[in-house]
Amino acid sequence: MPAESDRAAPGDAVLDRLADVTARAEQAAAAAGRPGQVRVLLATKTVPAERIRVVLAAGHRLIGENRVQELVAKADDLADLDPRTHFIGHLQANKVNAVLPLVRCLETVDDAAFARRLQDRLEVLDRTLDVLVQVNVSGEASKSGVTPEGLPALLRAVAGFDRLRLRGLMTIGLNSPDLEAVRAGYRTLRVLRDRLRDGGLPGVPAPVDPASVTELSMGMSGDYELAVAEGATEVRVGAAVFGARAQPAPAEQPGR
Ligand SMILES: *Cc1c(COP(=O)(O)O)cnc(C)c1O
Repeated sequence: MPAESDRAAPGDAVLDRLADVTARAEQAAAAAGRPGQVRVLLATKTVPAERIRVVLAAGHRLIGENRVQELVAKADDLADLDPRTHFIGHLQANKVNAVLPLVRCLETVDDAAFARRLQDRLEVLDRTLDVLVQVNVSGEASKSGVTPEGLPALLRAVAGFDRLRLRGLMTIGLNSPDLEAVRAGYRTLRVLRDRLRDGGLPGVPAPVDPASVTELSMGMSGDYELAVAEGATEVRVGAAVFGARAQPAPAEQPGR
């Protein structure tokens, strides 16, 4: 039973919008021949804990934070509602220790030295971590992520770190009103994932269990249906559910 304070306030449409986004994502998945194969991760940056509690109390579990400070600040206030939290922002190596206890998946591995840092810390903690490798498919200099050309080398490194469980790939789409160009980037990510899974990336062995590298995290409020049409298994949606952010918060953080 959610606490009284976890109920949506009168006139607060957050749960209606979540239901709408979930239904649209599912419709797009069904239209693409993949019914039931997309999840909605709620991007909760700048959203106060009491607003996040409303969606958690309603049964939604999957959320993502992209700033360490916010992740840490809200974690205690949400813990009793058992969120499944992914980290979706650029993570500085010196923040790894703070983040690892609070997340189930880190979606932004984009460099071998950083992956080594994760491996070392996970050995100390004696645990594993689900990870996605972030790829910069748009070529925008402002975006983090390994280039498609650099992906095989990074995956070879990740394959050597036994504490990292590679689940798939993530990208932040092209920031453009040209939806065809955005979509082409999502297609690129899917092709890379398929080649990885099938052993078609040079020097990268096909995973022992192809079923383990399945995830494609792509698509945000403005384009998630396109991303699902291109194969997204997870869309990361913030504004379409929580409303526009007062301060436009960039999806990217300054360099590590
Ligand atoms: C904020 C954010 C999103 C969601 O963006 P919206 O436009 O609010 O849907 C998705 N991915 C990342 C990495 C983000 O930082």
